[in-house]
Amino acid sequence: MPCPRSRLVPLLLFLGANAGAAPCSFTPATLSGERAPGLIVGAEVLLPEGSRAGQGVHIRFNGGLGLVGEFDAVRAARPDAAVLDCRGAAVLSPGFVNAHEHPAYSYAFPDAHLNPGYVHRDEWRLGTDGAQPLPIPEPIVYARDNPRSAAILLAMELRHLLGGATTIAGPGGLPGVVRNIDRHDRPGDIELYDYEADVEVFPFSFQAVEDLREECAGGPAHQFGHRAADDLAFMAYVPHVGEGRKASCAARAEVARYLQRVQRRDRRYALVHGVATDRDDYAVMREFDVTLVWSPRSNLALYGETVDIAGALDSGVRIALSTDWSPSGSFHMREEAGCARRAASAAGVALPADALWRMSTVHGAYALGLEDRLGAIRPGLRADLVLVAHAGGDPHDAVLTATHRDVLAAWVDGRALLLSETLPESLGAGRCVALPGMAPRACGVLSAFGLSPATFIEHVANTVPVNDAGRQAPCDAPTGGRAPST
Ligand SMILES: [Zn+2]
Repeated sequence: MPCPRSRLVPLLLFLGANAGAAPCSFTPATLSGERAPGLIVGAEVLLPEGSRAGQGVHIRFNGGLGLVGEFDAVRAARPDAAVLDCRGAAVLSPGFVNAHEHPAYSYAFPDAHLNPGYVHRDEWRLGTDGAQPLPIPEPIVYARDNPRSAAILLAMELRHLLGGATTIAGPGGLPGVVRNIDRHDRPGDIELYDYEADVEVFPFSFQAVEDLREECAGGPAHQFGHRAADDLAFMAYVPHVGEGRKASCAARAEVARYLQRVQRRDRRYALVHGVATDRDDYAVMREFDVTLVWSPRSNLALYGETVDIAGALDSGVRIALSTDWSPSGSFHMREEAGCARRAASAAGVALPADALWRMSTVHGAYALGLEDRLGAIRPGLRADLVLVAHAGGDPHDAVLTATHRDVLAAWVDGRALLLSETLPESLGAGRCVALPGMAPRACGVLSAFGLSPATFIEHVANTVPVNDAGRQAPCDAPTGGRAPST
């Protein structure tokens, strides 16, 4: 007996849903004439002003963001564009902006001697004051003719991308995958770093404890020499400052000097780590527009303490999250966000998902002086986006806690580098390949470095995995703060 069509269609949809089929429907572009039509993504969209369901976001063919608005209106305005309609099933967020990383070292596991007993970074770096120094991993520098360097750095960048970040600020990395931010010092840097920020590591000296020893013993104030960074007022300044316990005189002295300097108001300032900061410092930072770049896992793993997060939140200072590096920090931004939540809870404060999301997106971009280029979904910014499946609940939380299976796509500069197997390969930035341990395929990135899946896997065998945070440093917040609120 023939089945009436009106009954058959819903049945097929039902079967499709049961089989775990695509949460999105795809309509190819209408290729007519000379116009490059781009792609409209329909989803719940996380905007700086809040979450909006049923939106359309137009990714222009040149990698910029075009129209952002109600889905039908965007579609009507760009009728020839391809459409990836995931409304009701996915959230679209700007990719995370990881405001502080050391990409050249961030392939290495924590050392067996890593412990939270250090007072100042000079102790684990240099063995100052009788401390046991930690081994510094060999930096991996990208070389076009060295596939091992490309594979290790690609694994590092794919790990961050899978963890939600489309931008990493810090020296090193490789061109054309995640967006890298640092100062251009050498000719090759122009291909590697998409935008500039001055992420000079230590603004005062590489041996601050030694240099400040007399001053800290009650002697005359030490004069640090002139640094090259003093001449780069046109770009954001994002240095490590006060990386040591609040009880460290040297760390406190660094903070005091830096907070004098920011009062020049001559450039965008951020302060990385700032473990040795207090409420009075946050008041100055707020007044002079200094972003606190916070890496709670790395702080806790090395110093047994982190910033006064309750004080920082009370003060209203802008906070950006960052991973620091794999030897003591989170392996990616979602792990960092989870650690931030735990550290805040241990200090008796709740960190809502939208606040954490802001620390991971718009605030990171602001710290780098790049808020007019990236870190938000807004017409004219670059299309650095992550699309994650969302079955209900807080949409910010969905983006912050997504697993690799939830990642539908990740675009950097409008190029889809990660793509779920439920989405057509034609959306990807080149050939898409499956890699072990991660659900979405990697598109257009292995072949760009002359790597096959097999050679990639061979080169990265002893480095931090793309999708396994099991061996990262612990995020053990000390007890003794205010009782956690429920
Ligand atoms: Zn660092």
